[in-house]
Amino acid sequence: NASSKIELKTNEDSDVVLNRWDRDGFSWSQEANDILRNKFHLDTFRPLQRAAINAVMSKEDAVVILITGGGKSLCYQLPALLAKGLTLVVSPLVSLVEDQILQLRKLGIDASSLNANTSKEEAKRVEEAITRNDSEFRLLYVTPEKLAKSKRMMNKLEKSLAVGFLKLIAIDKVHCCSQWGHDFRTDYGFLNVLKRQFKGVPILDLTATATSNVLDDVKDMLGIQAALVFRAGFNRSNLKYQVLPKKGSEDECVEEIAAIIKQRFSGETGIIYCLSRNDCEKVAKSLKTQGIRAKHYHAYMEPNDRSACHQSWISGKIQVIVATVAFGMGIDKPDVRFVIHHSLPKSIENYYQESGRAGRDGRPATCILYYRLADIFKQSSMVQQERTGIANLYNIVNYAYESRICRRVKLAEHFEEAWEPSWCQKQCDVCEKATDGETKSIDVSEEAKAAVKIIEGRLKAETYETTKHHFPENLNSAKDGSGRITGNKLFELLAKRLKEKRSREFCERLIVFLLLESYLQEDFHYTVYSVISYVVVGSKWRVYNGRDEILMTVDDEKGSISAASSIKSRKRKAVISSDEDAIS
Ligand code: ADP
Ligand code: ZN
Repeated sequence: NASSKIELKTNEDSDVVLNRWDRDGFSWSQEANDILRNKFHLDTFRPLQRAAINAVMSKEDAVVILITGGGKSLCYQLPALLAKGLTLVVSPLVSLVEDQILQLRKLGIDASSLNANTSKEEAKRVEEAITRNDSEFRLLYVTPEKLAKSKRMMNKLEKSLAVGFLKLIAIDKVHCCSQWGHDFRTDYGFLNVLKRQFKGVPILDLTATATSNVLDDVKDMLGIQAALVFRAGFNRSNLKYQVLPKKGSEDECVEEIAAIIKQRFSGETGIIYCLSRNDCEKVAKSLKTQGIRAKHYHAYMEPNDRSACHQSWISGKIQVIVATVAFGMGIDKPDVRFVIHHSLPKSIENYYQESGRAGRDGRPATCILYYRLADIFKQSSMVQQERTGIANLYNIVNYAYESRICRRVKLAEHFEEAWEPSWCQKQCDVCEKATDGETKSIDVSEEAKAAVKIIEGRLKAETYETTKHHFPENLNSAKDGSGRITGNKLFELLAKRLKEKRSREFCERLIVFLLLESYLQEDFHYTVYSVISYVVVGSKWRVYNGRDEILMTVDDEKGSISAASSIKSRKRKAVISSDEDAIS
């Protein structure tokens, strides 16, 4: 991949440029802040957003390079309202656009798209609205194909410009313009007419990935050589990343957190993220009994309590805020020294965002992620209704599970950032552990078979039960009438069955591994009150021949063997493979 060779520049110049634009004091600043709060219901700008908005409002062309989930849409949605005219958004993905339009309409913003599915009436309404300069219409989304193919569309846009209504053109996923980009699309070639045809209208380009090659290409292609480039440094070099297994009871976990705070972050400010309101309250309470100035924060609190809590944290009266993800606002507190995730976040994007609230002042800070099998199922039943919810969740599970690859490499891979070896400097738990460069993999096919046997045995028992209507032993799981087994139950039974040979940690790791590798998969059942995750046989198991080795990497071979069996000598062979194999 040619593009991954190009280094990412974080040179001074770009910081100077950014500082010039990332500030209040423009004639529209007050209104921009008002719109942010009152229209979008957000509290502060994220990195680059304000700079991008100021640039396009000053009629400058700009390129914004910001990770996925970083908040690129706001960079054109907010100017669309500020400029009180039409913003044309060129975006390649119809499905994403539909989501965005729904969201905008919920906020009372008139937006629409023109594509093959648009009804005649809507097309007519839009065409009329964008050619009238007193219209309330604000954002029109089109695909590059539509622009390239529809002369009528171009005519309407020209008319819109003529009446002074067209104010901004935003091009999403602009790296598709470049042959160097990883998903080049020929129809983006047409976009080179925009600058010539719509003179005086600023162009805002947005992308999550752009190496310098792609960037130069894009500027040439679109005729915006002088465009301002805003790029968020992806690597947060002052953050130290660490993953810790959540062992024992919830109480023990909180005790461990308390000990860490006392030993490593005495007198320093931090955030603990929990999954639910309940967890927040419990963790905060328990920390308090251990002498830590902590307070919970979640969306169910009275607004006044919330802001009081926030204030006392900002001022340092409270050392630790224990929050749900609802706590995102006003975290421009620069001296957050640690962010601890008491529970798995729902995606790598979320993790990057939430952990990234540490160390905004550039001084060292620590991000700790606690993780255990059971937390996967708590999250999965919550995110399963989102289109890519499970895939996103499994990515962060993989981040936590994979104990042999630098955490930063994982993040960079995820965000498709070109990796620089100098980025980590042993500032993650993986790199810190001096590794011998070898990854141990062991064949877990027998254990996997044992897990599947438990799942299938349970199914049979349940089928039997539903026909017989009594089978006391299984009454518990029969309550929901599913005839299936939860991941937690599977873990308990498997650990019991393998207890002569394998440690509980091993069994936990095995189930995660089998899920990540699709030997097992989650299956969701809906009750009136909740969604329950069960574990069933996955696609890879269905084509497994029963003979091949199934290789799972282990951190510590000894740790995978149960205390009961370490006395007996074991015949299992350990397969040594190189780190590189493990990565691929
Ligand atoms: P991108 O296009 O960069 O992938 P989006 O524009 O879809 O990201 O934004 C990702 C999420 O971040 C959205 O849920 C959005 O509401 C949220 N978001 C954007 N800007 C802000 C902000 N200033 N404060 C809080 N949340 C924000
Ligand atoms: Zn590292």
